[in-house]
Amino acid sequence: MSLIREMIKTRRGNGLSREELARLQQRRLKKLVRFARKNSPYYEDLYQEISEDCRLEDLPPVSKPDLMADFDRVVTDRRISMKRVDAFCGDLDHVGRMLDGRYLVFKTSGSTGNPATVLYDKTCIDVSSAVAALRTFARQEDYRAFMRHGRKTAGVFANYGFYLACGMSRYLQLKMPGRQTKITVDVNAPEAQIIRELNAFQPAMLSGYPSNLALLADYDELQIRPDVVITGGELLTDAVRRKLTEKFGCYVQTHYSCTEAGEIACECAEGHLHINEDWVIVEPVDRNNRPVGYGVLSDKVLITNLANRIQPFIRYELTDRIVVHDEKCRCGRNTRWLEIEGRTDDTLLFDSGVKIAPMSLYKILEEVKPIRRFQLIQTAPKELELRLVSDEKDVAFAEAERELLSFFAEKGIKDLTITLSDLPPQANPISGKFKHICRAD
Ligand SMILES: [Zn+2]
Repeated sequence: MSLIREMIKTRRGNGLSREELARLQQRRLKKLVRFARKNSPYYEDLYQEISEDCRLEDLPPVSKPDLMADFDRVVTDRRISMKRVDAFCGDLDHVGRMLDGRYLVFKTSGSTGNPATVLYDKTCIDVSSAVAALRTFARQEDYRAFMRHGRKTAGVFANYGFYLACGMSRYLQLKMPGRQTKITVDVNAPEAQIIRELNAFQPAMLSGYPSNLALLADYDELQIRPDVVITGGELLTDAVRRKLTEKFGCYVQTHYSCTEAGEIACECAEGHLHINEDWVIVEPVDRNNRPVGYGVLSDKVLITNLANRIQPFIRYELTDRIVVHDEKCRCGRNTRWLEIEGRTDDTLLFDSGVKIAPMSLYKILEEVKPIRRFQLIQTAPKELELRLVSDEKDVAFAEAERELLSFFAEKGIKDLTITLSDLPPQANPISGKFKHICRAD
């Protein structure tokens, strides 16, 4: 019943004007802040000096280390503690099951530092299901084809542990044990096995990390005809979008979510990521948490999850760099939309403090034609290692090296050494997430 209620609320959100959305946001924010003050000792302390009539900007931002260090005081149910959550997570059979019959437990992969532990209460779960059901598909025709073909969904993700995709998928499977409409295929399994499982299942929707799906697309043995491919977790570049479209012969799209904020933005038929403004507040800010304007690249993002009561995330820092647009979109949705810079990749640091954004290097390497797949690792301040998949590895490397060195020289970074590695590009062994550009730990 509660899912139906959230579906109705979310559907209503679709038709609201900007002004109506802003008012709805304010109402939900006010309730959330009041609830957090009353039920979370952490927020009670944090907001002590702040009046009831405060604006969002008056509330101090919070970060992952803060919220994790004080987990027991952040959560709004005094029976919950990190100790109990850890004990619960000690049993992998608890993935997708509820702690105390009330809360789903998720862990982030920690691709940008230490993992976070995130609880979802029933409302938060239902809102996230409602948004997924009503807004994930960019095009109605893909949604209809997907329904016609039995809603068969295959996700190529980390198929174990308390990750969001895996946990939500198992939660839904456990709720409807008779219906085999969803499978999760382990992203870290050998390719031959992944391909066998996907071929046997023949999904109507294929989801996964773009970099992994791009790798799978190289295999002729993979013979599936999904109605739509929906990627997540990393930036979907135009090149990967084209490659997947060609391989699978269907529409390829993405969405923007994270465990702490849920579904942040969903793609429309114009390829724009529209913010789910009824359930999440997105503030693009500079490194000092000052707001940046429309059309300007932010240093980070503050998100407020308006659906989660058990563990409030209010002005919570994400390290993503985004651009928010307020131009009206031709698709007809009223919400603002955003673009994301590279999702999990690292910024490289050089002597004299020069920083290079991963996206620039990604774009350079993506243009080197003989390269099919790459990974660039900074192993020391003046040393880079390039891992390549290519039919002409030496030619590819020579071109990549020339382009990279000339780019770095323009930035005043000299005396760099780039070496060609014997290893292929590799995903993080724990999360299964892949970084194209990274610093060695
Ligand atoms: Zn749009």
